[in-house]
Amino acid sequence: MDETRESLEFDVLFVGGGPANLAGAIHLMNMAQKAGREIEVCLIEKAESIGSHSLSGAILDPVALQELMPDYLEKGCPIEQPKCSDEFYYLTSTGKFRLPYTPAYMHNSGCHIISLSKYCVWLGEMAEELGVNVFPGFAGTEVLYEPDSNRVIGVRTGDKGIDKDGNKRPNFEPGVDLMAKITVFGEGPQGSLLREIGKKLGIFEDKMPQVFETAIKEVIEIPESSPFNASATTVVHSFGYPLGFDTKGGGFLYKMKNNRVSVGFVVGLEYEDPLFEPYQAFLSFKKHLLIADIIQGGKVLQQGAKTLAAGGLYTMPQLAVDGALFVGDSASMLNVQRLKGIHTGMKSGMLAAETVLTAIEKDDFSAGTLKAYPQKIENSWIHAELKAARNFGQALSQKGFSKFITLGAQYLSGGRGFTDPLPIVDDGSTLHKLTAPPAEIKGEDVDNTLYLDKLTGVYLSGTKHEEDQPCHLVIPDRNLCVNECYETYRMPCTRFCPGQVYEMEQDPDGARRLKLNPSNCLHCKTCEIKDPYKNILWTCPEGGGGPKYSIV
Ligand code: SF4
Repeated sequence: MDETRESLEFDVLFVGGGPANLAGAIHLMNMAQKAGREIEVCLIEKAESIGSHSLSGAILDPVALQELMPDYLEKGCPIEQPKCSDEFYYLTSTGKFRLPYTPAYMHNSGCHIISLSKYCVWLGEMAEELGVNVFPGFAGTEVLYEPDSNRVIGVRTGDKGIDKDGNKRPNFEPGVDLMAKITVFGEGPQGSLLREIGKKLGIFEDKMPQVFETAIKEVIEIPESSPFNASATTVVHSFGYPLGFDTKGGGFLYKMKNNRVSVGFVVGLEYEDPLFEPYQAFLSFKKHLLIADIIQGGKVLQQGAKTLAAGGLYTMPQLAVDGALFVGDSASMLNVQRLKGIHTGMKSGMLAAETVLTAIEKDDFSAGTLKAYPQKIENSWIHAELKAARNFGQALSQKGFSKFITLGAQYLSGGRGFTDPLPIVDDGSTLHKLTAPPAEIKGEDVDNTLYLDKLTGVYLSGTKHEEDQPCHLVIPDRNLCVNECYETYRMPCTRFCPGQVYEMEQDPDGARRLKLNPSNCLHCKTCEIKDPYKNILWTCPEGGGGPKYSIV
């Protein structure tokens, strides 16, 4: 071990400050207190503060929260709208058709509309009150293993104060080795530590490929006089325009407090057209009359982007290894059929916490003891929900009208459908090659008040990184980008990235160069997932960098 590196020891380490780990930490402390047992628990989060990187739909099914904290309303849970009243539309470019029948899984009765960032702040405060050592601004960059063994014994946090060339700056601070009897990983979709654990321990082997959707979302302030403020509708969902039938995705609008609405658009990353740009689809959705009528006269307050782990049950990794458990989105707990993952993530964190406490009582942290966690998942309502949705994402990914027949079959048969399991392909493998030079595509006009260009969106996400640090986007072969990828796909990274991180520069003599703006990175991970050459590796930048979401 590096002698300048501090080492801290805990009983339990939670990596990631999203709802799954926060619920897990709270549940563990509550149970330990009841049992009269003192345990040292640490939770690290790469964002500057808890909630700063938390972005989601966000409709909360409070089922797990009720189990965790039956008096959550009395405890001041931040809720934007206590009740959901749904409308579901099919959109054409000029029309909107309200569906007479909304599938049961799309109903949100009993759910609340929340801001996930505010919700995580609230859970984080509660965890701290219970004695959890909450360390925001610390990015886990390396998994620590027992020497000559595969047993996870903690996480090393990233060094701070390294310059672009890898030299120490005057403010250099080495990362810390956080050692724990059990480490619970809840990093969110496409976790970079889970990726490395997958390579070493094979936790994704024999599973279907992980698949994802990218969501871009804004909070918009609408005029006080807007008729939508007075309407009973709180939730609008749509499919169709601007995607058509062959690309999975859709839009949403949720009513919030104080004349605000949350507007978002989700695109399945198995899309095939290399010229497609999710951000432009988001703008087109906002300009459709269904949404434009509601938001006209408003202004965007905050914008953000993230991916959703949409693979479901058949992509769920092995959930327990020696010394570690995996929870939340990074462990495929999201129910894509319901477009919800907060409740399943929280419940997975709570079941992990119960397993952790038993392991502490037995003083046995081996996979043999920790396998109680996947068994608990299997016996819980998480598994029942995910089982009913096990082929939903795959059915939705089908092309043409057969999609609706397959969807109907899986819906009526409790998730089985005609083929079970329906196969999934890796999102990075689906782009079609360009066969002719593409026609110039005109993007949507922007006014940078209600309709933003990407850079204004990045500004409104509050994203900031230390500029003088090694680039966190590792691209081993830049020639591949400007030659083969340009010729074959016209460098789709310049379009699928919502942060305008990737640009192509061309000299007068025609030589092309990839220009990176890593400071704009929204940490959505779309690039690592969708790159057709697997030539982009997303690594954690210096802790504390990234978006600063507060209301989305
Ligand atoms: Fe998302 Fe990658 Fe762009 Fe960062 S660089 S915003 S992770 S697509």
